[in-house]
Amino acid sequence: MPTASPDHQRRLLDLQARDTAIDRIRHRAAALRSDPEIAAAQERSSAAQAQRDQAEAELAAAEEALAAAEAAVEQVAVRIRRNQQRLDAGTGSAKDLTALQHEIGTLSARRSDLEDTELAVMERVEAAQAALDRATVTGSEATAALGALTAVRDTRLGELAGEFEREKADRAQVLAGIDDAALVSLYEKLRGTHDGVGVAPLQGARCGGCMLELNPKDLAAIRAASEDAVVRCEECGRILVRS
Ligand SMILES: [Zn+2]
Repeated sequence: MPTASPDHQRRLLDLQARDTAIDRIRHRAAALRSDPEIAAAQERSSAAQAQRDQAEAELAAAEEALAAAEAAVEQVAVRIRRNQQRLDAGTGSAKDLTALQHEIGTLSARRSDLEDTELAVMERVEAAQAALDRATVTGSEATAALGALTAVRDTRLGELAGEFEREKADRAQVLAGIDDAALVSLYEKLRGTHDGVGVAPLQGARCGGCMLELNPKDLAAIRAASEDAVVRCEECGRILVRS
């Protein structure tokens, strides 16, 4: 059975307390980093951005369609003006003038149709602009909500980083007081295989690690062992420190 000074064994419990605290800080930081609320806010923000992009694309397409509709109306208007000027000048045969008049009538009807189309496209532009405005507001709100959540998380992470540094310094101090590499090495090995707990106090007849009661025979053997014997829990295998 390995041996270690009773003082070093008791300090091992302090080391365990520091390590448990450090593990808890790490666990809390990891939970903060994978906060589902932030992930959901991120998703909402991305979705809002995608919606805004889509609205922007629709507005651009509608504006392009409006420019085309305006150009079509203008093209017909130009032809009507030209014909009207020729008609007003009164040159050409009576037959030509009748034909011009007829063409002006046809073009006017065409312009009226094109103006209806232009009006419909203008309404499309207005609707697209309104949709973009709404998407912009939604996007800003989503970004602000995400920013607020992230700020709270970052503050908390900063606090945890401070706690972590303090615990690490405390741990280093405790470790410096245990001048027994073999004992520390055994503790570290057990910590790695026993859910981060390598040493536990013997609480009456109970192991403070696995919380099981030791059977009378094992308990008697532990009590009979020399003070500097490094005893282990028969149930979980952790180092047991007698007080
Ligand atoms: Zn145990």
